[in-house]
Amino acid sequence: MSLSPARLDRFARHIVLPEVGGAGQVRLAESRVAVIGLGGIGSPALQYLAASGIGHFALVDDDVVETSNLQRQTIFTTRDVGYGKAVSARRWLANFDDTLTVDVSDARITPDNAASLIAGADLVLDGTDNFATRLAVSDACVAAGIPLLSAAVGRFQGQVAAFAGHLAEEACYRCFVGDAFDAEDCDTCADDGMLGAMAGWAGTFAALQAVKVLLQGVSTLGEPGWGRLHVLDGLEPSLRTIRIAKDPACRTCGA
Ligand SMILES: [Zn+2]
Repeated sequence: MSLSPARLDRFARHIVLPEVGGAGQVRLAESRVAVIGLGGIGSPALQYLAASGIGHFALVDDDVVETSNLQRQTIFTTRDVGYGKAVSARRWLANFDDTLTVDVSDARITPDNAASLIAGADLVLDGTDNFATRLAVSDACVAAGIPLLSAAVGRFQGQVAAFAGHLAEEACYRCFVGDAFDAEDCDTCADDGMLGAMAGWAGTFAALQAVKVLLQGVSTLGEPGWGRLHVLDGLEPSLRTIRIAKDPACRTCGA
């Protein structure tokens, strides 16, 4: 694959970076990312992933845009209120760059349909807000051998981590949270509140880490940092990193 003059121009600020370069930009153009959850995390993440030149997306969200989402879910406008998030996000992508290919689903992701919804992805970015869904997504990623970029945010704190539980030495998301949450809906966003820009920081940080994962092997942008949980504190502000060990007894990725 080679990039057209128009695409070379569009991504000139990437290509001039030795850490990305032409080969890295081609890799992004050929990449497919499944974005699960188009809320406070998925919405800014998707905008930066699309801007970075990733060529193919699968968008999954069963929600409808509400007025109270607009304070942080930056891909939606007042006009989108009442419409599905997945189709609204696709509309934004079509306006932004009509060369992207986009599949959408308004299904609620479950252990039964997760595998088909992420099939063919080079990376899954999960910005959903409850443990049952996040575990279903993670388990499907491990089974399919797909890296997972997991991000969450609440109030003034964000958490972002890249998982490769399909690799022998690396933890999966279930190693991190355990089995206790499979049936529990822990959606605290509506109760606890969230500063909008905090979701933006976590979402765009997840997009940055996602690009590192996708460029493995063709660029020198750095390691994906499998199993490292980055904790973003918006009040301090600060960023600290915690290592998540693989759980040998994990029922998804353990021996
Ligand atoms: Zn595990």
